[in-house]
Amino acid sequence: MPLIVQKFGGTSVGSVERIQAVAQRVHQTVKAGNSLVVVVSAMGKTTDGLVKLANEISRNPSRREMDMLLSTGEQVTIALLSMALQEIGQPAISMTGAQVGIVTEAEHTRARILEIQTERVKRHLNDGKVVVVAGFQGISSNGELEITTLGRGGSDTSAVALAAALQADFCEIYTDVPGILTTDPRLVPEAQLMAEITCNEMLELASLGAKVLHPRAVEIARNYCVPLVVRSSWTDDPGTWVTTPIHQERSLINLEIARPVDAVEFDSNQARVALLRVPDKPGVAAKLFGEISRQQVDVDLIIQSIHEGNSNDIAFTVTTPILKRAEAVASAIAPALRSPSHPNSDEAEVMVEQDIAKVSISGAGMIGRPGVAAKMFATLAAAGVNIQMISTSEVKVSCVIDASDGDRAVAALCQAFEIVASPASPVSLASPNSPPVRGVALDLNQARLAIRQVPDRPGMSAKLFGTLAQHNISVDMIIQSQRCRVIDGVPRRDIAFTVPRMDGETAQKLLTEVATEMGWGDVVLDSAIAKVSIVGAGMVGQPGVAAKMFEALAQHRINIQMIATSEIKISCVVAQEQGVQALQVIHSAFDLAGSEKFVVPA
Ligand code: ADP
Ligand code: ASP
Ligand code: MG
Repeated sequence: MPLIVQKFGGTSVGSVERIQAVAQRVHQTVKAGNSLVVVVSAMGKTTDGLVKLANEISRNPSRREMDMLLSTGEQVTIALLSMALQEIGQPAISMTGAQVGIVTEAEHTRARILEIQTERVKRHLNDGKVVVVAGFQGISSNGELEITTLGRGGSDTSAVALAAALQADFCEIYTDVPGILTTDPRLVPEAQLMAEITCNEMLELASLGAKVLHPRAVEIARNYCVPLVVRSSWTDDPGTWVTTPIHQERSLINLEIARPVDAVEFDSNQARVALLRVPDKPGVAAKLFGEISRQQVDVDLIIQSIHEGNSNDIAFTVTTPILKRAEAVASAIAPALRSPSHPNSDEAEVMVEQDIAKVSISGAGMIGRPGVAAKMFATLAAAGVNIQMISTSEVKVSCVIDASDGDRAVAALCQAFEIVASPASPVSLASPNSPPVRGVALDLNQARLAIRQVPDRPGMSAKLFGTLAQHNISVDMIIQSQRCRVIDGVPRRDIAFTVPRMDGETAQKLLTEVATEMGWGDVVLDSAIAKVSIVGAGMVGQPGVAAKMFEALAQHRINIQMIATSEIKISCVVAQEQGVQALQVIHSAFDLAGSEKFVVPA
């Protein structure tokens, strides 16, 4: 008999009537000949309400007590839904995370699942019962049997992990929107539904604030090839399928923590063009990349670090054969980018570097695990490899290094991450006719940190990001400036990156200590930023996508403070108060709007 795991989110179980409607749907699925495990969230905004209560008592409540408190929300729903099922004649039993045997790390409020003991669930399923499981919670394995939670939005992760452990035929996430849309319909009501999206695209979107799916749920679906669909609780429409790559056997032990990295990629066919000292004002990136795309030059990584004074540096990489063309475009446009008041200054200088290579680690297990990138940097430092550029995304960390360091870097990384296969070349993951941009996401919960004057030599990133990793602070969008300044006889660069806003001050404090010890410059924090990103596997090999994004921002006088890209994502940092507008203008620039407007139920 087919086995399905269904998950119903807060809004879908927000009232007695809605719980009864869910019971009807569950009952129909059973009558159609399926075995069913149902995972539920707390009713409506219960979890938010509990958090508020805790904050009224303590500014900094203990994480253990938070878990004790928040896990109660789901326990209410499982009991009520089981009663509703029994009431309509459907045998059902409710189970907490601990009763199921969802074993997690002992990390309160952000535990990862280690293992799911499936015997008890299977026994109830064999008895013809629907098993109703509390999402978002587990039990720690360290002998103390502590109640843990997986982090906000974690019921999705509970559901997909259960589907993986039970080898369910598929996992359905029922929610208050018809599926995965091109952006958040609360910000853009014309957002359009997608019939399907790849796991990698979804991972990039999900971590950027597309909260429709918990990123760790996507990570598990990808690693264990769980067929996953997001659908509306109110209709029978098909929803959005999240497609997974080819099946690889994986152990279910250490489910969420085994092997964060599954490939080392290497590309020696790269060259870099940098434009130094371009004005820090709206429209500059648009002008540069507009011209580049008109010349059909396909750029790979683009980075723009924090500004220095009133100018920026923008660098991009291209494949070696088109370097000459890229350089010509950059040189031709440089004079036009100089500020009119100083036409003869040394502004907008073009710098070209040919002997570079890109080495990357990729895998679906890096989200929220800052130690993975830190380990990459430490490994490169130990091998004496200097990192010239860093670009991070949810599923990949890429470093641009000297071409002559390539073999050493790859060997060291393969050993460190236990990758036996030879390094893969980057591959396009797009289906042939997928549009270049699938979705747009906005993250208003990040802060930016910049460290001035970090010496340009191996080991600096390892020290910096190692320190943050030790304190479990995730970093994103790491960017090193192109400009190198010699101070006290040492060439130095600025390094900027973003962290979750709630970690901003702690990170600043930690890094100020490191900076003092190491003789680095100031550590500057800016919390008023927004990050807006476009994602799509089809943007690989498509010139002009970045230009279009930058142009949309320029037209609305939105200044870009930082740029970072991966193969399938382009992110810009803008001022926080312009975040929502930035999202809206980009969504419309890529013609992602549909004719229908979505109204999200309260
Ligand atoms: P649930 O309680 O069912 O888990 P969530 O509130 O966690 O629901 O997630 C659903 C919400 O995600 C939607 O109401 C929508 O506002 C938001 N959302 C953000 N980005 C997207 C997107 N790209 N597609 C669909 N929904 C999105
Ligand atoms: N109830 C939890 C939350 O609101 C978990 C979830 O709904 O996924 O974060
Ligand atoms: Mg959710």
